[in-house]
Amino acid sequence: MPHQSATRADITRWKRLYRVLKRAKAPITGRRVATILRFEDGGETTGCNIEQRGRIVHAEIMALSASTRGTKIKNIDIMANGSRVDHAMPCDACCAALIRRSLPNTRVNLYWNDTRSHFSLALHNIRSRYKPFASVPRARRKTIRKFLQTHTFLTTIDRNMVAAICERLHAYNNAHQLYPAELYISGSASGRGGPKSLLAKKMSGVAYWDIDLIFIFPKKIPGDVHEFIRRAYLESLIKVCYRNPRIQSKVVPSYILELGAKDSDDFHFRKIFWAKGMPLELRPPHTKKDQNVPSSIDVSVGRTLTSTMTPKYLKRKWYLRLL
Ligand SMILES: [Zn+2]
Repeated sequence: MPHQSATRADITRWKRLYRVLKRAKAPITGRRVATILRFEDGGETTGCNIEQRGRIVHAEIMALSASTRGTKIKNIDIMANGSRVDHAMPCDACCAALIRRSLPNTRVNLYWNDTRSHFSLALHNIRSRYKPFASVPRARRKTIRKFLQTHTFLTTIDRNMVAAICERLHAYNNAHQLYPAELYISGSASGRGGPKSLLAKKMSGVAYWDIDLIFIFPKKIPGDVHEFIRRAYLESLIKVCYRNPRIQSKVVPSYILELGAKDSDDFHFRKIFWAKGMPLELRPPHTKKDQNVPSSIDVSVGRTLTSTMTPKYLKRKWYLRLL
């Protein structure tokens, strides 16, 4: 199991977090978050995120402002709505605020909303993962599989799938030499997704939820870009072992991006592609409980990198260039 099993104290805290979570208001991001700060002297304060009139205040900040204690924080419990524990990961600004009032070895305990278990990380480790990378590595076409192996957390089968998508795009570029497309990988599977990568690595190295790919078509996009990507994904799935994949796709909100870039003409769309009835070996281990969730690719398409990636990811170079 990727996470610690629940003790009686965990269950008590889980219930408390769950109650606090009900008070959260997240009409902007849709992500409700609750936190409990546990202090050295045994005292506790709680907080939940509040989003109103365009203003967003995170749960950790709410909990900090509710406390005037002089003692240090020993433990930080956080829970988000939905089934993804990575949504409970504190942001850079919250880590900075928490560290000022914490012990050197303070732990952050991320609680699953639905399983009553949690995953524990050191606060200073999370904080250090927000640092920017020095440069963006770029894959060479001939060694793409090796590159994916050394630079990302992708499993063998997903590596082969992504390498096949690269091949498909390379063929497209050969036919469109004036305006070659680019491909990037980001997020937890990329190994450069900041603290989410830390979580993925700790959770056995393969526990990413999806594969974030960013396609850049600088001048023109192919006649039907949805169809192009769908085909590339389909052919890649067939190539890696899956005989008769049926592709499904859905448009997903990209809320952080949309706050700043939804007006940009350079952003085309964001969509998740997955295959119905995908065999077990293609799925990441976290889906064991829910066998219907396959490994998927989360695709963003635009004309420029700035239109498809959040400023935070861009600034910190949390991505790899594949093509
Ligand atoms: Zn925060």
